[in-house]
Amino acid sequence: MAKKIKVKNTIVEMDGDEMTRVMWKMVKDKLIFPHIDINIDYYDLHIKHRDDTDDQVTMDAARAIIKYGVGIKCATITPNEDRIKEYNLKKAWKSPNGTIRAMLDGTVFRKPILVNNIKPAVSSWTKPIIIGRHAFGDVYNNIEVAIPEAGKLEIFFTPRNSGKTQKTFVNDFPSAGIIQVNHNLDKSILNFAKACFTYAFSEKIDLWFSTKDTISKVYDARFREIFSQEFEKNWRKKFAQAGIKYFFTLIDDAVARIMKSEGGMLWALKNYDGDVMSDMVASACGSLAMMTSVLVSPHGLFEYEAAHGTVQKHYYKYLKGEETSSNSMALIFAWSGGLRKRGEIDGTPEVVKFADKLEEAAITTVEGGIMTGDLITLAEKKSSNKKVNTEEFIDAIAATLRKKLK
Ligand code: NAP
Ligand code: MG
Repeated sequence: MAKKIKVKNTIVEMDGDEMTRVMWKMVKDKLIFPHIDINIDYYDLHIKHRDDTDDQVTMDAARAIIKYGVGIKCATITPNEDRIKEYNLKKAWKSPNGTIRAMLDGTVFRKPILVNNIKPAVSSWTKPIIIGRHAFGDVYNNIEVAIPEAGKLEIFFTPRNSGKTQKTFVNDFPSAGIIQVNHNLDKSILNFAKACFTYAFSEKIDLWFSTKDTISKVYDARFREIFSQEFEKNWRKKFAQAGIKYFFTLIDDAVARIMKSEGGMLWALKNYDGDVMSDMVASACGSLAMMTSVLVSPHGLFEYEAAHGTVQKHYYKYLKGEETSSNSMALIFAWSGGLRKRGEIDGTPEVVKFADKLEEAAITTVEGGIMTGDLITLAEKKSSNKKVNTEEFIDAIAATLRKKLK
């Protein structure tokens, strides 16, 4: 057996729930640990363990990412009423992703994994389009009120310190109607901008940002202004040196251009736009199991995971002893993403190279026709295509990886 590749600094690992927990162990045992010598700071985010520790384990994991800089996370259950009964929980603990995102003040970037035998619905997209969604404010934290009858609406802002109330006229309602009040914070927008520039620079790809600032001359214009100031202040030189661009355009124009582009950019979007456009890009690229996700903090911390959940239905089949064909691609890419980032930060090119080879092994396996059930239906029909079960898929990738590492 060849000597293992040594990873210099610690990686934070967060284990998870259900079918992804089953696949997670296979990925580690068959693809990672046979080749990599690594110091892991392990946190078990299994729903029972979060419950036993009153969710302290999630906060400890987030603190560990702040300490070490790189984390890799399995999918986890966000408990609801059904889950409280199923696992006999003390309460409906918050989403671990929400907790970690809040503690890291991070932005989530989603990137599809492309393979040449599954064509995106948009034929020009040959490179992945990565969506960065500002997951704060706007319509998601708004106030909505039904106006019952004719009357005048004004809003008042009372400053905490200077005491001068600011009054703004909204509308003279001729009859019943509705209102919606959105807000955002300069600080949150700036952190979003920083995370986007950090990610685009780290991936060496162009950054696109789009809002409707021609119509929204204060609100959306503020987003544009903050991005532009951050670019001038901290990124213009770095971007030029890396040969990448920052490009602002109106959201309508961006949508039209994206449909004709070859992809390969980070597209930063406000909360609602990001919510909608990320689902469009994901569905155009095929399966949820082919979507990776990384949380980037404005301070340069990274957490890698799959975009999908714990694949609950498959897990119940697995528990009954039935055969499953769950796709581990996005989980594998969470590991490769985390290892690559660790290698880049540590200055260990052999670790980066291993991450590249692991991804190549996974992609060539699928391109060679060996696939899980979700992909078989999407891939170009070929008689050599073979549907495999959960474990056989990982075994096939392991075999390809061994050849690539020789
Ligand atoms: P899900 O786990 O993403 O699965 C939804 C469906 O998508 C599956 O039933 C399956 O379709 C397909 N799918 C997703 N990942 C797949 C994979 N790797 N291989 C093959 N098919 C895959 O969403 P969910 O079932 O709605 O949620 C289950 C749990 O996950 C929930 O408790 C939720 O709280 C949690 N969740 C966690 C995260 C996270 O930790 N990041 C994100 C989302 C949801 P078929 O059944 O048709 O085969
Ligand atoms: Mg959505």
